[in-house]
Amino acid sequence: MMNWTDILKLSRDGNQAPPRRVEKTEQEWKAILTPDQFRITRLKGTERPFSGELCSAFGPGRYSCVCCGNPLFDSGEKFESNSGWPSFTQPIAENAISYHQDTAYGMVRIETLCSVCDAHLGHVFPDGPAPSGLRYCMNSEALVKQESDSKEASIVLGGGCFWCTEAVFQEVEGVTKVESGYANGAQPSPTYEQVCTGKTGHAEVVKVTYDPAVISLEDILEIHLTTHNPTTLNRQGADVGTQYRSAIFYNNEQEKATIDKVVADVKQSYDDPIVTDIQPLDTFYKAEGYHQNYYRNNPGNGYCAAVINPKLSKFRKKYTSKLKVS
Ligand SMILES: [Zn+2]
Repeated sequence: MMNWTDILKLSRDGNQAPPRRVEKTEQEWKAILTPDQFRITRLKGTERPFSGELCSAFGPGRYSCVCCGNPLFDSGEKFESNSGWPSFTQPIAENAISYHQDTAYGMVRIETLCSVCDAHLGHVFPDGPAPSGLRYCMNSEALVKQESDSKEASIVLGGGCFWCTEAVFQEVEGVTKVESGYANGAQPSPTYEQVCTGKTGHAEVVKVTYDPAVISLEDILEIHLTTHNPTTLNRQGADVGTQYRSAIFYNNEQEKATIDKVVADVKQSYDDPIVTDIQPLDTFYKAEGYHQNYYRNNPGNGYCAAVINPKLSKFRKKYTSKLKVS
């Protein structure tokens, strides 16, 4: 998560490399933008407070740059600041936005620009809500909102070997998809063999896609934290290494608050402290095809019999009411 110190450093020392670049002439921008969009994004204008239609938008979705489509903010980071401009606590990715010191009108402020096309978006201030303390004060005209067409949500969970965690979540009512993969490591598109060395920084994880109308994130997290051991650092039973770390990788600060709440509840049932790695989701790579649906496809495997069968029996007994009706 970015904080004010990070923003000041970027505005002073230079920004991170953008995901891509889009450059157009003034004429080309004029051809695709409305006069208001052009004035604000290309000429550093400001819309009147409470005039933008995205001020009062709080439904799920994603906010992108109106000029180039660069994804900027998730709706989970939007909050009501009563300033009259759409306000967010955190960008979708650290390199989505670039920062410049703006000394117009005799004030020193930090201007925010789309990192891909340099569109002026607004400013960022250090008076936002905890935990980031940031308020991205944006022009509604600089943003375009994509409503999320799907009602589904997803969360990435690490609980040791992904064959085990996949088998558990495949049985949970309201879970529509479980994908095994690797999350939050240094190397792009790692192989299973590379992750198994424990040197890539990835965790073996499952991406659990669910219908929030059927099962809540709270219930999913409780199942996760009670069907693996979240108190052993970089270890799950006989499996040892950072790739087996207990982990929860979240998409936005709203999810982070839910995670903190569930961890506080669940920790009372353990003697040892919970050491789960709780981080924003950086990257998720789906694992090789033969790891998907592993338990179901390999019922005779010795590991499944020894480790997964007892785990599943325990899970089914404890969470009878949360099981899919077969
Ligand atoms: Zn842009």
